[in-house]
Amino acid sequence: MAERTSSLARLFAVEAENDWRSKAACRGLDPDMFFVSEDLENRQERRDREATAKAVCARCTVVEECLSYALAAGERYGIWGGCNADERRALKRNGPDETAAERVS
Ligand code: SF4
Repeated sequence: MAERTSSLARLFAVEAENDWRSKAACRGLDPDMFFVSEDLENRQERRDREATAKAVCARCTVVEECLSYALAAGERYGIWGGCNADERRALKRNGPDETAAERVS
């Protein structure tokens, strides 16, 4: 819970140089769609929740900025830029094979 709150606080801490956050399609939505502790849902629930969150990312105009931020910041939890934590780890290991916008479309 603290991690989720912390991540959301960082996401929406709008600063002049970080104004992409003000355009986030997830702004104002239920944070539980993007961040849930692993022990609070089963595998199917996680898949369903992540699909719903990724559908929001698919219509987000700042998906590239969001994913770049999450990769640079080493965000370990939640959906960022249309990717879950496992997908972000794979991107860091293997490098991107497509843009974030292509990934979520
Ligand atoms: S890409 Fe997804 S998580 Fe990132 S700001 Fe947009 S809607 Fe939110």
